[in-house]
Amino acid sequence: MATQKLTKNQGVVLEALRESAGPMSAYQILDVESVREKGLKAPLTIYRALDKLVEVGLVHRIETLNAFVSCDQEHHTEPPAFMICEECKRIIEVGTRSIQRTVLKQAEEQGFQVNQMHVEVSGRCRKCAN
Ligand SMILES: [Zn+2]
Ligand SMILES: [Zn+2]
Repeated sequence: MATQKLTKNQGVVLEALRESAGPMSAYQILDVESVREKGLKAPLTIYRALDKLVEVGLVHRIETLNAFVSCDQEHHTEPPAFMICEECKRIIEVGTRSIQRTVLKQAEEQGFQVNQMHVEVSGRCRKCAN
């Protein structure tokens, strides 16, 4: 989805996330000066914008951090997984096709119906590990 199809609020929130070095919660987004300057002052406004951005895939929700990151891929060829650096909070987006296939096969064997699957790995990025 093209950025120009976004509403003003969605654009403001997306920009704040793109300029951020790491993931941000809705309240952290609300604290960003450029967000406040553009008149976004209610958490609900931020949540609404985030919902839409997540829906169209421009932003991802990091479940284990309860925070959001802007997508750094042109488009997804497979569902994303996230490596979360515990030190610098950097998020590295990677593909999950083979993980997904393994889990779905296990689920099928168990007769388990999968609604959602999140793959999030925490640790230290290359820079912080050195
Ligand atoms: Zn992505
Ligand atoms: Zn790091």
